[in-house]
Amino acid sequence: MMNRRRSLSLALAGLAAGTTAACRREEVAKAPEPAPAPPPPSPPRKDLEGSALTPVSVDPSLEIRTITGLRPFRPSGFVVRREEREGKTLVHNYGHGGAGITLSWGCANLAANLVPLVSGLPCAVIGGGVIGLSTARMLQLRGAKVTLYTDLLPPDTTSNIAGGHWWPVSVFDSNKRTPEFTAQFLDAARFSFRYFQRLMGPRWGVRWVPSYYLSEGPPENGWLAGPGGVLHETQIGFRDFGPGEHIFPAAYVRRFHTILIDPSIYLETLLRDVQVAGGAVEIRRFAGADEILKLPQQTIFNCTGLGARELFADSELTPIKGQLSILLPQPAVNYNLINGSYYMFPRADGVVLGGTFEKGNGDLAPDDAVKSRVIAGQRAMFEQMRENQKGILAAAR
Ligand SMILES: Cc1cc2nc3c(=O)[nH]c(=O)nc-3n(C[C@H](O)[C@H](O)[C@H](O)COP(=O)(O)OP(=O)(O)OC[C@H]3O[C@@H](n4cnc5c(N)ncnc54)[C@H](O)[C@@H]3O)c2cc1C
Repeated sequence: MMNRRRSLSLALAGLAAGTTAACRREEVAKAPEPAPAPPPPSPPRKDLEGSALTPVSVDPSLEIRTITGLRPFRPSGFVVRREEREGKTLVHNYGHGGAGITLSWGCANLAANLVPLVSGLPCAVIGGGVIGLSTARMLQLRGAKVTLYTDLLPPDTTSNIAGGHWWPVSVFDSNKRTPEFTAQFLDAARFSFRYFQRLMGPRWGVRWVPSYYLSEGPPENGWLAGPGGVLHETQIGFRDFGPGEHIFPAAYVRRFHTILIDPSIYLETLLRDVQVAGGAVEIRRFAGADEILKLPQQTIFNCTGLGARELFADSELTPIKGQLSILLPQPAVNYNLINGSYYMFPRADGVVLGGTFEKGNGDLAPDDAVKSRVIAGQRAMFEQMRENQKGILAAAR
């Protein structure tokens, strides 16, 4: 662009020199022409990806809270399975790791499919997080009479801590993934992806946003994502940008559109829908599976997340601690940014800055050192983004 502009001004200068002599005779007689208006400023380089995005103001004084939660992780993946115990039908639906919101509708569907005829059937659902609430609602949509038993309800569940990004990661260890689990996982992810599209809008706190993944090397394509990946069809508007094609503080950036869910709005709406549809809610803590099996309902869905470790002696369940710092909402920010383990989600209730993954750490106390590291890292990233945008604007002038 610079070269084009330079040659244009040289051409104009040449034209002016050629005509000067011819006009000199008339100069005396004619009044001087008004000075030509300066050329309009060059528009920003819109062709560079990200040039129109608003960088986040990462100022520690804008922090509104720092929270922690425990992802219910199983190396071999979540459990959706039916068993008969002491004359009862027990359907498990737990252990969704870092993607319980993402997989919620799909796993609710898989769980409900395990009891083909639920219309008119009294069912107990244990757990008031995203998995219990989605399972309850899915059963109601098939005509079941649901009673939800739970120790905690929104806003006090782990599901309320989630960032709310729709993307099925941190769900299993690749070397532990069986063909049976893979089939369930893909079915659940695809079902959820379609189901969430019905819930777009402010009532549910669900919307589409572009997600940007930064990397220093060319983005890698794996089993899950990228061209040829099993869930590539869910990466809407997918494109990779190389050096010189974007304004982000990294050599490469991968972009695709994903669904962003505001858990505080979403879970409140979901709970209300369950209740409006006639679901009863009983606040109760169970000490063991024997208490659960004494419930009056014949069909029981276990959606207790990390609680299943003690209740059903599942020693594979491991907590993965995550800590998030939330900044005052910044409505002009309308994209996700993921850079290694750092991520930013622009929710309505605040800008979410994460993230940490501490496998085996079940201590919910916030860690100030982690907070400082996350905030400093994110601040440096967004300051660099702002500088890159300024540099490009200046170069275009
Ligand atoms: C920091 C962080 C970020 C995350 N980000 C995302 C994200 O961006 N996207 C995403 O999809 N997922 C994310 N997750 C993962 C997601 O939060 C979990 O996978 C999800 O919350 C699991 O849902 P759940 O209903 O199984 O568990 P929970 O929300 O923990 O609900 C379990 C329910 O069971 C009840 N219960 C347990 N034991 C008992 C008992 N003994 N008696 C009675 N009731 C009991 C509890 O009271 C609770 O109501 C994140 C998690 C964390 C911690």
